[in-house]
Amino acid sequence: MTAPESYDVIIVGSGAGGAAAAFRLARDGLRVALLEKGQPLPQDGSTLDFNQVVHEGVFKSREPWLDRNGRRFAPEEHFNLGGKTKWYGAALLRYGRHEFEADAAHQCPGWPISYEELEPYYEQAEKLLDVRQFDSEADLERIERRLARCAPPWETNALPMGLAASIVANPLEARHFDGFASVARLKADAETAFLAPLRELANLTVQTGAAVRELIGAATDATTIRGVVLEDGRELHARAIVLAAGALHSPRLLQRYLDAHRLNTVVPCANAVGRNLKYHLLTAVVGISTTSMTDLIRKTRLLTNPKLPHSSVQPLGFDGELISTLMPDFLPRPLARLLGNRAYGFFLQTEDGAHAENRVIAGSDATQGLPVIDYDVARIPAAAAEHRRLVRSFKLDLLRAGLLAFSERVGLAGTAHVSGTLSAGSDPTRSVVDSRGQVHGMKSLYVVDGSILPRSSRVNPSLTIFAWSLRAAERLAADLRTSPS
Ligand SMILES: Cc1cc2nc3c(=O)[nH]c(=O)nc-3n(C[C@H](O)[C@H](O)[C@H](O)COP(=O)(O)OP(=O)(O)OC[C@H]3O[C@@H](n4cnc5c(N)ncnc54)[C@H](O)[C@@H]3O)c2cc1C
Repeated sequence: MTAPESYDVIIVGSGAGGAAAAFRLARDGLRVALLEKGQPLPQDGSTLDFNQVVHEGVFKSREPWLDRNGRRFAPEEHFNLGGKTKWYGAALLRYGRHEFEADAAHQCPGWPISYEELEPYYEQAEKLLDVRQFDSEADLERIERRLARCAPPWETNALPMGLAASIVANPLEARHFDGFASVARLKADAETAFLAPLRELANLTVQTGAAVRELIGAATDATTIRGVVLEDGRELHARAIVLAAGALHSPRLLQRYLDAHRLNTVVPCANAVGRNLKYHLLTAVVGISTTSMTDLIRKTRLLTNPKLPHSSVQPLGFDGELISTLMPDFLPRPLARLLGNRAYGFFLQTEDGAHAENRVIAGSDATQGLPVIDYDVARIPAAAAEHRRLVRSFKLDLLRAGLLAFSERVGLAGTAHVSGTLSAGSDPTRSVVDSRGQVHGMKSLYVVDGSILPRSSRVNPSLTIFAWSLRAAERLAADLRTSPS
C-alpha cells in the first residue's frame, strides 16, 4: 500500500473561499493540496453559448436533493474548477459597516469581527480581483433619470465589478458574463484571479476530479482532523484541513464526521452545523420599454432605497436576445424578440434573517441517502415582508418611469447565494467557527467558504467570502509557521 500524500494544508473546494485560501497559503510557502470535485471548464466557447448554459443547463449539477416536503429537486450548483465564481455576475461589493452588527428585528446575528477587522482584506481582494467601475450606459441612465423624477427614494451608485476594462471591446463576452464563464479571461473569477498566477508554484498541487468523501481524525483524538478520504478511496493527510466546498456541501462533510465519531455531544457547536442557512430572497424583474435598449454591459449601477434597508437592486447583465428566449413559450417568437429588444432585466435581493430550522441536512437512511434543504420563508417574516414591498414598489416605480414590469421569484433551486450553514460567531453553541475560521471545539479544521457568513447582507456575497478567506488563511499560515510540523 502506498503511503498517503502529505501536505501542510488540504483545501476542499476551489471556489471563492478555496481559491483565495490557496493563494495566501501557497504564496506563504506552505505545501498546499487544493482538492476540487469538478474539472476545469472547456475553453471551446460552449460556456458562452446560451442554449447550452441557460436552456440545457449543461454545466449545472444534477445532484438530487430533497426539499422540506420530501420532493426531489436539483439545486443549481456548479462543480468545476473555480466553483460558482466562474459563472457569477462579478458584482463585487463590500458589506456595509452596520451589517457586521446584530439586527434583532430582522433576525440577523452579528459577526464575531468588525468591519474594520475585515477592511484590509476587502482592499486586498479588490486589488487581486482588479475591481473597477464602468460608466453608466445610455438606456440605464435614462431609466435612472426617470426614476429620480417619479420615484425619488431610489439612490444609485456605481457597481464595483470584477471585469476587465477591455471587455467592452468584446461584445460576445460583454453580453455574456452574468451566468456565463469567460473564455478570454475577462472576468476576475476565483481561478483567473487566484489560481492562474500560482501555476508555476511547486508547493501548490491542484487536483481536479478529486471529490472529498470524508474527513479523517487523529488516532488518539477524534476532535483533531488529520486528513481526508477521496471518493476513489485515496487518503491525503495534512496539518490543517480547510473546508471550502460551499455552503451546501461543507456542512455535510462535518455532520457526517461528527455522527460517525459520536461527537455530537462532545463538540459544542455540533447542533449548529448546517443550520441558519441563508439564500437571499431573490426576484428577477424585466421592464419593457417603448424604445429599444442597446446597453452593452448593463450591470453598472446599484440601486438602494432608504425605505427598504435590507434590500438592493442591480441590473441583470442579460442582453435582449437572451431575455427574449426566457419569455413564456406561448408568445410567438417574433413578438418575444421584439419585447426582448426593448427589455431591461433587474435582480432584486433582500437579506434573509438566520433561523435555526432553515438548514442543510446530510443524507440518511430515512431519506434514501439524499441530502435535504429545509428552508421556509415563513420562518423569517420580516425579510419576507420587506421583499414583498421591494418587488411591489420597484415594479410600480418602473411603471411610473415608463417600463411595464414582470417579475419572477427565484425558487429553492436558485442556490447562487447560499450561505451561513457553518456560521461564524463567538458563542460555540450557536455558531460553528470562531473569528479565525476554526471550528469551535475542534483542532486543525477551518472553514473559508460562504458557509461562515453570519449575515447575508443586502448585497452579493463573494467579495466578503474572498476577504474572509484571505484573513483566515493569513492567520493559519502564521500559526503553521510557528508550530512544529
Ligand atoms: C449565476 C450566478 C451569479 C452570481 N453572481 C454573483 C455576483 O454578481 N456577485 C457575487 O458576489 N456573487 C455572485 N454569485 C455567488 C457566488 O458565485 C458565490 O457566493 C460564491 O462562489 C460562493 O463561494 P464558495 O467558496 O462558498 O463556494 P463555491 O464557489 O460554490 O465553491 C465550492 C467548490 O467546492 C467544490 N466541492 C463541493 N463539494 C466538494 C467535495 N466533496 N470535494 C471537493 N470539492 C467539492 C465545488 O465543485 C466548488 O467548486 C453568483 C452565483 C451564480 C451561480
